[in-house]
Amino acid sequence: MNEQKLLIIDDDDMIGQTMSYIARSIGIEAHATSQPDEFFEQVESWKPTHIALDLVMPDMDGVEVLVELAKRECSAGIIITSGVGPRVLDAARRSAGEHGLNIIGVLSKPFSPALLRQMLTTEVNAVDGSGFASTRGKGRDIEVGELAEAIENGEIELAYQPKVWCNSGLLAGFEALARWRSPQRGMVMPGQFIPVAESGDLIKRLTLEVMDLAMEWMSESLDDSQADEDDWLSMSINISALTLDDPHFINHVTTQCKRFGIAPGRLIFELTETSAMQDPVTSLDLLTRLRMKGFQLSIDDFGTGYSSMLQLVRLPFSEIKIDRSFVMSASRSTESRAVIRSIIELGRSLGLRTTAEGVEDAETLEYLKELRCELAQGYLISKPLSGAEASSWAENG
Ligand code: C2E
Ligand code: CA
Ligand code: CA
Repeated sequence: MNEQKLLIIDDDDMIGQTMSYIARSIGIEAHATSQPDEFFEQVESWKPTHIALDLVMPDMDGVEVLVELAKRECSAGIIITSGVGPRVLDAARRSAGEHGLNIIGVLSKPFSPALLRQMLTTEVNAVDGSGFASTRGKGRDIEVGELAEAIENGEIELAYQPKVWCNSGLLAGFEALARWRSPQRGMVMPGQFIPVAESGDLIKRLTLEVMDLAMEWMSESLDDSQADEDDWLSMSINISALTLDDPHFINHVTTQCKRFGIAPGRLIFELTETSAMQDPVTSLDLLTRLRMKGFQLSIDDFGTGYSSMLQLVRLPFSEIKIDRSFVMSASRSTESRAVIRSIIELGRSLGLRTTAEGVEDAETLEYLKELRCELAQGYLISKPLSGAEASSWAENG
């Protein structure tokens, strides 16, 4: 295991010392400072694997520090500390997450040493020794050409995450999630290569590949030919907004549906509105045509900045997916529960199905049932599975 190093920035020297003491007691090297200059100098030269950051300091505010860390592409595990209320801490955590920082926990003051120890030990293995994102292949060093070749070589695979009906717990379908099994890099996650594909024109090619793989798997593993329309298992596929102006897309899916004998109604295209959706007219056309052909359309990551109310009303969606950041925090955040409740009500009033993704605990699933949310997806139910594992899930329920 890599050597672990904790860097603390806190204007209160006592807190810095206490945290250092706790870290050292479990074999983690620690260094504390109250000076931003010294802090950033240490981030660069000492390369901590963990950072504990006080959100409220007299000379510099913690949010600025987070922004600066994001600019430097710091991938250390970050623990946010502060005496401010849980609501502000939660907002800071979300904003840091959106900046791509690796937030491993929020510690309100006065903090519990046990909780700090837990954060330092449980998440410690997830962070590599360099403290910087580049060596984790965050995407910057993946080249479009390399990825294009990988697609041609059949190195893209799919993981399938089950989606269940909240009220019965029965399987409703799967979401296809792309993975790149690279002989050189090992298993690469979509967060690392989707942005690369999107930066070139490669995302269109990748979308078609994912679709083909998903449909082929469906036709082999989910034989629904005997089932009622109500019992059909669905397949959700993520579509980048950049794919929407691809004229081949709609022909390709309809052709493939015929080829594999899959009813269009079983396919759900999940869309996240991004700033990239530049041509609202073309996308409205395409989405409307897809719906007319019977495909389903889901607005992904709903509740976040990009997937907004405006999009929901303007475009012909059939499903809302509540962003996992709200669902994952539901059991500890009143605010998240309020957001979930109002999204479910919104869905109901617009006649859409609602899926909650990121369900990690039984309490949250219970809450979703109470609210009559239709569908749930998340680690509590199942992690994304290999094709073979997903087939047996489908067989055995
Ligand atoms: P997404 O569409 O929001 O997909 C759900 C992500 O949440 C998946 O991450 C899944 O593994 C993760 N997840 C599911 N349940 C839980 C849970 O209970 N807790 C937590 N913490 N996480 C959970 P994954 O597979 O890393 O995918 C990340 C994103 O990459 C996806 O987010 C999607 O936006 C994108 N993506 C994946 N496959 C494709 C693809 O084929 N095409 C495009 N355009 N984007 C894709
Ligand atoms: Ca999705
Ligand atoms: Ca999502």
